[in-house]
Amino acid sequence: MSQVVCIGCGVEIQTEDKEGLGYAPPSSFKKDEVICQRCFKLKHYNEVQDVPLTDDDFLKILNEIGDSEGLIVKVVDIFDFNGSWLPGLHRFVGSNPILLVGNKADLLPKSVKHSKLTQWMKHEAKQLGLKPVDVKLVSASRGQGIEETIQAIEEYREGRDVYVVGCTNVGKSTFINRIIKQVSGEQDVITTSHFPGTTLDMIQIPLGDDEYLIDTPGIINHHQMAHYVNKGDLKIITPKKEIKPRTFQLNPEQTLFFGGLSRFDFLKGDRQAFTCYFSNELNIHRTKVEKADELYKNHASELLQPPRIEDMDTFPELVKHEFKIKEGKTDIVFSGLGWITVNEPGAYIAAHVPKGVSVFLRKSLI
Ligand code: GDP
Repeated sequence: MSQVVCIGCGVEIQTEDKEGLGYAPPSSFKKDEVICQRCFKLKHYNEVQDVPLTDDDFLKILNEIGDSEGLIVKVVDIFDFNGSWLPGLHRFVGSNPILLVGNKADLLPKSVKHSKLTQWMKHEAKQLGLKPVDVKLVSASRGQGIEETIQAIEEYREGRDVYVVGCTNVGKSTFINRIIKQVSGEQDVITTSHFPGTTLDMIQIPLGDDEYLIDTPGIINHHQMAHYVNKGDLKIITPKKEIKPRTFQLNPEQTLFFGGLSRFDFLKGDRQAFTCYFSNELNIHRTKVEKADELYKNHASELLQPPRIEDMDTFPELVKHEFKIKEGKTDIVFSGLGWITVNEPGAYIAAHVPKGVSVFLRKSLI
């Protein structure tokens, strides 16, 4: 096929990879002018769709943003805060202000105060080297916090463009689609344009006379659990509704399995409560540390599921990480899967996660 470009954003059209950049169905070639699926959705449904991007392309985008003037809105998934963080952003943005938006607030227990959460986000952001001008919590799918966030965007952008960045699956498209509805009502917002000087597909949505909200493609974060499970299982591990914390009173030398995806051992310490924040659909199985290896060997993909039997060949082995809990109110985070809150200091624990998935301690979120 000779090179055909989208009349909306200028990206090269391809017909193979439905999820990829520049996809258009083969039938669209009957027309003189071809438009990629992403621009088609924006044109006809006022909807943006996320397109994943390689790390190199993302670096180019970051450089581009650093050279421009505007407000950067960084969207993270509050359920997978660190996994969806996009490290290094602060090194690229120059003097541009960053508004940090935590999405999927609807997943956290209602008892959690939003003011406490935004404080926590500020603290974590600082630890990770970022000083946002402000922090907002939203639920893009339910519309919570959107109005307030739009106001904050208006305030901080000071008449400049707005760049929305985030890794795939944080809900960036859902967030932008909310904003489009709110800002433009039913108006036709088609203004996709090729971003000057790059071949990267950024989408511009008008905010004022000559200012835009710019949707950048999402970066794939390779350490996320999502890359190790199949689509069906992803549905199980991705919470859809408010998480119901599950608390286990454990004696030392007891183990919890999260499906067959991860494992937690309470090695040493006083009997105590461990509160688990995982998708309500993910099965948690308690056993003894001394029996855990055998149980996993014989029952992963059955009693301990997901992964499923057909995925066991490719599912990475579990790797053990040991920690001593120095302070009370610490979370042990299984990246992309959930976390366990430990209330008391002093426990020795081990977390087992698939090779390649990260596990770490942080100040408790709840
Ligand atoms: P993108 O890849 O960042 O553009 O993310 P999408 O907008 O496609 O959303 C990714 C997934 O997160 C989808 O399954 C959405 O339904 C879900 N999602 C988006 N926003 C929210 C939210 O506010 N709450 C919850 N619970 N899920 C959300």
